[in-house]
Amino acid sequence: MLKGKVALVTGSTSGIGLGIARALAGQGADILINGFGDAQQIERLRRELAAAHGVRVLYSAADMSKPEEITEMIERTTAGLGRVDILVNNAGIQHTAAVEEFPVERWDQIIAINLSAAFHAIRAALPQMKARNWGRIVNIASTHGLVASAHKVAYVAAKHGILGMTKVVALETATTGVTCNAICPGWVLTPLVQKQIDDLAASRKIPAEAAKKELLGEKQPSHEFATPEQIGALAVFLCSADAAQIRGAALPVDGAWTAQ
Ligand code: NAD
Repeated sequence: MLKGKVALVTGSTSGIGLGIARALAGQGADILINGFGDAQQIERLRRELAAAHGVRVLYSAADMSKPEEITEMIERTTAGLGRVDILVNNAGIQHTAAVEEFPVERWDQIIAINLSAAFHAIRAALPQMKARNWGRIVNIASTHGLVASAHKVAYVAAKHGILGMTKVVALETATTGVTCNAICPGWVLTPLVQKQIDDLAASRKIPAEAAKKELLGEKQPSHEFATPEQIGALAVFLCSADAAQIRGAALPVDGAWTAQ
């Protein structure tokens, strides 16, 4: 379905971003992967993705907290793979603390990576999408774009912000072949969430398995994690022709978390 298209997925060396990169490559899209990690492992991943799906895969180590590196990554993708048709703004980090104890540098970092990076990437990629009259922008927000939880002030502010950004871009592209939407996952078992499980287990002195159950039980009525594959499948659907009139939407994949 996506043969001939080029997709750039930020934060795709792990977790949800990797699930999305795999799903898009599975549909024949050439991919630029981005994110941190061990250089050899990333190179293995790059080769594996390319070989498994017969697509071209490039890697960029651009740091999403640095606007000039984001612009450069869009330019590199365009030079190396010919274009950017699909932009998935996924890179994100978390930090938990009460508002009055929240470290200022962590606030700045979360706003930069989870919110501003999407603005810089969209700003740089949109002109070529508009020029070809086809594009798909998928922002990975969160249930925390729709509702809040204590101790996540920067994350919740950034995710609410990205839903606002999604709506503005959708309005500005409404009469074009470019769409912009957000996916709002609930709990997905990735390294980002594993850290929160480990922290909960340590603070409550309970086994990791019990902490996992407690985390799910508190927020996610299905009591099951969503998976990177499920988020990837929704991203693929948003890239399809059938999704051409889904615009400015915030789509939860959250086991009924935000139904409450
Ligand atoms: P993860 O930690 O598994 O992956 C994060 C990715 O972002 C990694 O590839 C990492 O290298 C990359 N990254 C981090 N900082 C970066 C930077 N400065 N520059 C470039 N890349 C950077 O986390 P995940 O759970 O897969 O999260 C991915 C996205 O999904 C995030 O935006 C997160 O907020 C969102 N999300 C996750 C969940 C969940 O339950 N896991 C729920 C809702 C939303």
